[in-house]
Amino acid sequence: MTVNETAKKRIVFCDFDGTITVNDNIIAIIKHFNPEGWESIAERTIAQELSIKEGVGQLFRLLPASMEKEVVEFGITNARIRDGFEAFLTYCKENRIEFYVTSGGIDFFVYPILERFGIAADHIYCNGSDFSGDRIEILWPNPCDEHCSNDCGMCKTTIMRNFPSDEYERIIIGDSVTDFEGAKLADTVYSRSHLTAKCKELGLPHHEYETFYDIIHHMNAERTATK
Ligand SMILES: [Mg+2]
Ligand SMILES: [Zn+2]
Repeated sequence: MTVNETAKKRIVFCDFDGTITVNDNIIAIIKHFNPEGWESIAERTIAQELSIKEGVGQLFRLLPASMEKEVVEFGITNARIRDGFEAFLTYCKENRIEFYVTSGGIDFFVYPILERFGIAADHIYCNGSDFSGDRIEILWPNPCDEHCSNDCGMCKTTIMRNFPSDEYERIIIGDSVTDFEGAKLADTVYSRSHLTAKCKELGLPHHEYETFYDIIHHMNAERTATK
């Protein structure tokens, strides 16, 4: 028996916007429809004067719900999938690594974009949406638990805490500052962009990736090294 067969179950928590996809879809949608006043909300969110939940909620409230069709269509067609994603899903399956999407994105684009990859719906966490009122209203079915006070909207650390570290080897893949709290809980961090900068700044061990092939190579190398 190898070391790995007795080890904890590996589980991946994978961000969506800017990670599975090449670009951030929320910003792309808002930029595209360009409602008056979005820039200052975006700036205040980035400056952390508004929580992610407040910022994203306010941004979508700038758009009338009557624009549902255009907004949904743009959200779906705008996204490009990062290289190697499908291969990575296969790799996870073959190596019995549990795979979860933990996304601060919105259901109306997250589910359609992921549809062709056959990820079980209960392995995808994201925010919801309601087009029945006057304005687009974002819904928050995955709020912060008592251990998190960041008002995340979709709380990645709350989800990670459902998979305790004594049973699971927790792996996080992300690209932005909103992935950092989860990265602190993880055994292994795959980072790019702002998440890499934040990890460097605060001395958190991480592995940089550009495509999902990089992550497969690194995981393979680690497996070989520990055998
Ligand atoms: Mg992201
Ligand atoms: Zn939270």
